Amino acid sequence: MSQNTGSISDIAIIGAGPVGLYASYYAGLRDMNVILLESLNQLGGQLGALYPKKYIYDVAGYPKIIAEELVENLLRQAQQYSPKIYLGEKIVDLKVQEDRPVELVSEKGNQYFAGSVLLAAGVGAFMPRKLDLQDASALEDKGVHYFVKDPELFRDKRLLIIGGGDSALDWSLTLQDYVKEITHIHMLKQFQAHEESVLKLMQSEKINVHIHAQLKEIHGDDYVAGATIINNVDGSEQKLAVDEILCFIGYLTNLGPIKNWGLEIVGNAVKVNEKM
Ligand SMILES: Cc1cc2nc3c(=O)[nH]c(=O)nc-3n(C[C@H](O)[C@H](O)[C@H](O)COP(=O)(O)OP(=O)(O)OC[C@H]3O[C@@H](n4cnc5c(N)ncnc54)[C@H](O)[C@@H]3O)c2cc1C
Repeated sequence: MSQNTGSISDIAIIGAGPVGLYASYYAGLRDMNVILLESLNQLGGQLGALYPKKYIYDVAGYPKIIAEELVENLLRQAQQYSPKIYLGEKIVDLKVQEDRPVELVSEKGNQYFAGSVLLAAGVGAFMPRKLDLQDASALEDKGVHYFVKDPELFRDKRLLIIGGGDSALDWSLTLQDYVKEITHIHMLKQFQAHEESVLKLMQSEKINVHIHAQLKEIHGDDYVAGATIINNVDGSEQKLAVDEILCFIGYLTNLGPIKNWGLEIVGNAVKVNEKM
């Protein structure tokens, strides 16, 4: 059943990723009462949904911190001012009228009212780009993974990691302490990850790195039993004995309903000026 929360908050924040959580704290600090609306059933945005157990190395004040711990800290910080948090509330409509509070409507039909709205929706809805290979979808969660739910799953396994960005490299470096061995492949010569991570990857004794390498075939019927990789320069192939495949080849994003709110959208972002 839909509901009308009735009360008018000073600010409604759409999205409870790190930006929305911190904004919630800061608005509280400035004596505003806050409602925080999140479409997922959990807090933390991409950190909670895509990489809760991954270390993050580039947050000011933390040499390293696990993503879910950062989310817990952000929540504790925000909770000092008791924001009203609504999970599972995807905002699908925004009505802005002269001299009246902004009305926000969720997919479930609930209405919220606020003096101002902060869009902290990140890149909108997001999902990992999947492997375009026969058998990859049949073996998803049966040895083919796009998230790390629990590093323990990879304990003492032979792992193939695919990708050249920060996610792929951060996971190789984190999981090397769990696994038997890692083969890390990237289709290009250059990695897109931070230089420090690339250096550590290359120096690791537990990680075999192949550049110009792509996944050609996954072996196994009910669970991954191996993989064949191909060198995209000389065409040579190599069959690998691997137990698990972790794939980080990008994310597909979609601003969804935000596109229809009359905002000027450039690419996948809302255009702002110095007054936002
Ligand atoms: C695998 C991976 C690893 C990464 N590692 C790092 C790293 O080590 N260091 C680093 O600095 N960055 C890293 N990033 C990037 C970082 O996660 C993002 O920059 C960050 O999450 C952006 O925060 P945000 O709060 O703006 O958006 P998000 O985290 O995307 O959160 C936005 C929230 O808004 C919600 N939302 C969207 N639309 C609506 C709607 N209509 N109604 C209600 N809710 C809505 C979404 O559900 C989401 O929870 C990584 C990203 C990925 C994918």
